[in-house]
Amino acid sequence: MRRGMAVPVWVALSVVLGSRMVWPQADYVVEPQKRIPVIYDVDVAVAGGGVSGICAAVAAARSGARTILVDRMGSVGGMWGPGYKPPGGSQAPGPYSETEKADRYDKAKGGYPAIWVYPEIAGISKEFIQRIERLSDVDQLSQASAVSYVGTRLLREAGVELLVSTYVTDPIMEGTTVKGLFVENKSGRGAIKAKVVIDATGEADVARRAGAPALYPKEIYSQVDGHSPNGFGLSAIVGGIDWERFSGKRIEFPGRNLGGKGTIRPAPSLNRLTPHSNLAVFAMQLKNPEPPLLDYAKLNAGDGKDMALLETELRLFIFDAMQEYRRKAPGCENLFIVAISPYLGLRGGPCIEGEYTFTLDDAKVGKRFDDVIYLFGENRALQHTCLKEGKCKWVDVPYRVMVPKKIDGLLAVGRSASAIPDTALRNVTAVQHMGQAGGTAAALAVRKNVRVRDLNVKELQVQLLKEGFYLGDEARLRELGLRR
Ligand SMILES: Cc1cc2nc3c(=O)[nH]c(=O)nc-3n(C[C@H](O)[C@H](O)[C@H](O)COP(=O)(O)OP(=O)(O)OC[C@H]3O[C@@H](n4cnc5c(N)ncnc54)[C@H](O)[C@@H]3O)c2cc1C
Repeated sequence: MRRGMAVPVWVALSVVLGSRMVWPQADYVVEPQKRIPVIYDVDVAVAGGGVSGICAAVAAARSGARTILVDRMGSVGGMWGPGYKPPGGSQAPGPYSETEKADRYDKAKGGYPAIWVYPEIAGISKEFIQRIERLSDVDQLSQASAVSYVGTRLLREAGVELLVSTYVTDPIMEGTTVKGLFVENKSGRGAIKAKVVIDATGEADVARRAGAPALYPKEIYSQVDGHSPNGFGLSAIVGGIDWERFSGKRIEFPGRNLGGKGTIRPAPSLNRLTPHSNLAVFAMQLKNPEPPLLDYAKLNAGDGKDMALLETELRLFIFDAMQEYRRKAPGCENLFIVAISPYLGLRGGPCIEGEYTFTLDDAKVGKRFDDVIYLFGENRALQHTCLKEGKCKWVDVPYRVMVPKKIDGLLAVGRSASAIPDTALRNVTAVQHMGQAGGTAAALAVRKNVRVRDLNVKELQVQLLKEGFYLGDEARLRELGLRR
């Protein structure tokens, strides 16, 4: 440093405070302009490779669009893949689902049907689950790898370019139109040009950064869905339990404060993974135990710092809780952690404000929409209509839940689509159908050279019917102009 040159404040501060480096506090820094290499130029770019993104990409590619899918994880499947989604609550063909359907539809037992997409799953979702069933048991651990495997195979077979371990950072914008994605990976920053982008990130990352109006989860939603807002969950798989001696009793464990943003509650129980294995699942569900108080609702799933804090504390908590089981629970002396899911699960989170916002009230009255893309049996709505009204109702999910207000060149599928409460459009089989509808729509828009918001939805519906989707009975199809 030349004599006489002013000493920067942060250097002076770090001297004053000893060896601890103190960085200057500033509201922002200006990122210098730079030329970003175009690494792909495609018709459709899908951000996020959960099951909704996989189905979107496969559908777009099968419809003839040059398609890429980008995911920040090393494997696809999202919550159902690396997230180890529990095996409940998915519709599947085959003996497992038939038994489940029969059991749960027995009104005498107080059940309701496990038919989420009426009357049966179709299209890529059906192919997907049939292949998974051939390759795995129904437990969440074996399904998780099978989901990633089958998802990757489906993408490859459809000719989708797959870019994993790559973070989607910002949309490429021209005015209010999304023209592609900036991504970051080991090579640095790259640009993917695309005619249509599909946001399947779960938290509508692309849409929010594009400036699209977004809906944020609200604490009050927990009154209609105990999993809302956000619906956080993280699973661990453990082994080494002596099941003969283990009472199954839950070990009480002090809660953990999330820096004033909530508390992680005492550890849940250990549930055997399958009757055949010695493994157990330890699932942290940050669920609302008693409405209306949900203190972790102050966490925002669209906030990087909040999510870093939650994820760090959850992982520490799971390990500490397991040590407590080892110390206190007979039969758990040799318990060990096989794996903690690498993917923090969310059932909801921020989503786009779409041209239409789907609500639980829509689901409860079984609302009909002319731009229907599939019929959905939202679980709380089925509980209400089947059990309280004595007649189950499935609702039309309209195309417009995927179309963001104000921003063009973009569709949002899965959890990123427009819904209140935030958790309403989360069921895996249902978001697969939405993904397929979104991917097909994107490819159609490219082919017809129209904006996704101007797409003739009838053409999309015709295509979906060909793929085996159910959009209503014959009379309804005539009403929609889809049958003569
Ligand atoms: C604990 C828990 C239990 C559940 N149990 C059930 C159940 O029993 N039945 C049921 O039907 N549903 C269940 N669900 C819900 C269901 O699993 C999810 O709603 C569904 O899998 C959502 O799919 P998705 O594709 O929309 O999102 P996700 O599966 O979350 O996928 C999002 C993908 O986007 C990627 N991504 C995100 N941001 C970026 C970025 N910036 N750049 C690149 N990639 C990005 C992620 O890595 C991920 O692969 C459960 C959810 C949780 C959390």
